[in-house]
Amino acid sequence: MSMTKKEIQALEDASLEFFKDGKIKTTCPRCGNRIKVHVKGNSYRVACDTKNCIENVFRGI
Ligand SMILES: [Zn+2]
Repeated sequence: MSMTKKEIQALEDASLEFFKDGKIKTTCPRCGNRIKVHVKGNSYRVACDTKNCIENVFRGI
């Protein structure tokens, strides 16, 4: 999956909002859907709610 800088930035912003405020205001720049954070162990996946849209996995919380 290739993402633009803007899309990568949106996923980063969304994860910051999630861990700071517990909710995400940033929406997907590609399709406008919600972005969600899925925590799994000590890594987490930030993904658009639309299937096969944008997502990114981060390690270390
Ligand atoms: Zn999307």
